[in-house]
Amino acid sequence: MAETPSDSIDAPWIVRVALDVPLRRYFDYLASATEPISHDDIGYRVRVPFGRQSKIGIIVATDTVSERPVDQLKAIETVLRDVPRLPTDWFRLAEFCAGYYHGAIGQVMLATLPAALRSLSAAKARSAKRRASCPAEAQIAPALTADQQAALNAIEAHGDGFKAFLLHGVTGSGKTEVYLRLIERTLVRGRQALLLVPEINLTPQLETRIAARFPDARLVSLHSELGDAARSRHWRAAHSGEARIVLGTRLAVFTPMPVLGLIIVDEEHDTSFKQQDGLRYSARDLAVYRARQNDIPVVLGSATPSLESWANATGNGGRERYHLLSLGGRAVPGAGLPAIRCIDTRVDRLHDGLTIPLLSAIESRLARGEQSLLFLNRRGYAPVLACAACGWVSHCPACAANLVLHLADRRLRCHHCGHQTTLPRACPTCGNQDLGAFGRGTQRLEAALRERFPQARILRVDRDAAGTRRQWEMLATQIENGEADILVGTQMLAKGHHFPQLTLVGAVAPDAALFAADWRAPERLFAQLMQVAGRAGRAERHGEVLLQTRYPDHPLYAALARHDYAGFAAEQLAERRQSGFPPYTFQAMLRAEAENIADSLAFLNTAKRAVSAEKYPQIILYDPVPMRLARRARLERGQLLVESLSRRALQHFLADWLNILEHCKHPAHLRWHLEVDPLEC
Ligand code: ADP
Ligand code: ZN
Ligand code: ZN
Repeated sequence: MAETPSDSIDAPWIVRVALDVPLRRYFDYLASATEPISHDDIGYRVRVPFGRQSKIGIIVATDTVSERPVDQLKAIETVLRDVPRLPTDWFRLAEFCAGYYHGAIGQVMLATLPAALRSLSAAKARSAKRRASCPAEAQIAPALTADQQAALNAIEAHGDGFKAFLLHGVTGSGKTEVYLRLIERTLVRGRQALLLVPEINLTPQLETRIAARFPDARLVSLHSELGDAARSRHWRAAHSGEARIVLGTRLAVFTPMPVLGLIIVDEEHDTSFKQQDGLRYSARDLAVYRARQNDIPVVLGSATPSLESWANATGNGGRERYHLLSLGGRAVPGAGLPAIRCIDTRVDRLHDGLTIPLLSAIESRLARGEQSLLFLNRRGYAPVLACAACGWVSHCPACAANLVLHLADRRLRCHHCGHQTTLPRACPTCGNQDLGAFGRGTQRLEAALRERFPQARILRVDRDAAGTRRQWEMLATQIENGEADILVGTQMLAKGHHFPQLTLVGAVAPDAALFAADWRAPERLFAQLMQVAGRAGRAERHGEVLLQTRYPDHPLYAALARHDYAGFAAEQLAERRQSGFPPYTFQAMLRAEAENIADSLAFLNTAKRAVSAEKYPQIILYDPVPMRLARRARLERGQLLVESLSRRALQHFLADWLNILEHCKHPAHLRWHLEVDPLEC
């Protein structure tokens, strides 16, 4: 990265700076008379003139020559040495990220810094006002199960160097306990540990559990809901080496840590590790890269690993790149796996979305003072409001989607763009006052349950009821304290928290995902159901999971009932291999959005024709097509899939292609971006 400056004293010092601008290059400046610069300043932040303003950047190199005429270069304003220099491995990670995902290097680097360190207005980090943390009560580690011990031994056997491990075990199998032992070992060796979790899994429960185990090690968390000041304080503690354990979400993969010795990615299959806008990077994949580069172990854990990771660990991709470690059953003695059963809705009819067997199962939990959870991955009251007289339906004016009926606050809402209106009293086209709600969301399910079980305390948990981390924590505490009998919720309820009194899980309408057009839908459905099933009966009480379905014989449900992730994964991977889908091919997606679809598709066609197919025999460029949700927030969107059997060939092609695309003419209102390893097709 950095070139050594010549020792000629007369040569002007060129300072190469990364800036937060959408260009895939660095910017050269001159050292000023008042601000002498040396090679040792690489990694400091710097304030430089840019256009008519100043910007904060990062010094990435010093040099004696510049590609630009030296008399055109401006001088830097100030070097900011208030924060220790960013280390070499941090630069390498950012450069790899920008290279692999084809982003602008300066944007990548600056985006990973806390806001307080990258913006001029907040450039002076406020003095640290540390929350007086009460010393956590030390907690004694349980004796390990044989599986846990075997997993630890296997990791230990590989020593301190790079190796990727996939730790597979159902919810409650003791994965977190394995993480804690690994962290302990890392701390004993005087090194830092980085634990990455999905956004919603970063709960106080987890933080407390870690803090209680390591009362003497400073633990900091990094996530999206931290205030700027706290984020900056935590980041700096990690960067200085003072914090020994960093618990964070996606972006925390970039945290500079001087003596990093271990990376763990919990729930590695979770799609929240993939950034969905701006630079679309995978924090899980970057974690593996970072571990390799730092020559340290990385552990990916999950009950339902991503099929990419599973293929890597089972040799299904050709080569066993990850070491597979399996935890059998549940760690707590006597805690069995829940019994999973289908209710055939062709036989047992639905009444307000619920079958008699599911209703009686809830009733028996109520009688025993236990909790039930009903899982329905669709929020709102009903997905659409319609008029039977004239055929009007509640379309979103900005999207190719329906407005969802929210009865709780009597509004129609678009779940894609946020557009909302008040509930019409009558049909806007024909005046009919008898509008019908079609389908069922969590609010409607909640209403039906209230009618059915008027005495029960019912709690709905979805993004409407628990939009912020705080709201969700409050609901979770209520549930833990046994202040609810029936929980109704989306995927949100499937994650993170442990609810000891929960013994019944009902999946109300899981079928839709079975036949979705997205070929990743079965993988996601299996993971979701497995995760939500994992909420049932974790302690001494046995759990039961009931799935309401029209397809009780479907292989996905059969594998689920056997708790057979491996069988499910093998079947899915065989299908993917046959159809030529990832992980057996590598993909990238070019997307364009404009005021009309014709412009979007025209741009994508130009992009396709801009390269000659003969020059890239290993690359397949598909025809541009409208995206599945073709219109969103008044923009019409198209996409072009690029595929190759070789990751290297794909990367090589994308680099060439981007250089061309950046000069492709298009209407001013059109926006495009490239996503490598896209999760949505
Ligand atoms: P996971 O992360 O796989 O969901 P955890 O590590 O959270 O599993 O363990 C689930 C429960 O089992 C926790 O309550 C934990 O304290 C307990 N547990 C974990 N390992 C053991 C063990 N070896 N002996 C007894 N209890 C254990
Ligand atoms: Zn009408
Ligand atoms: Zn909309």
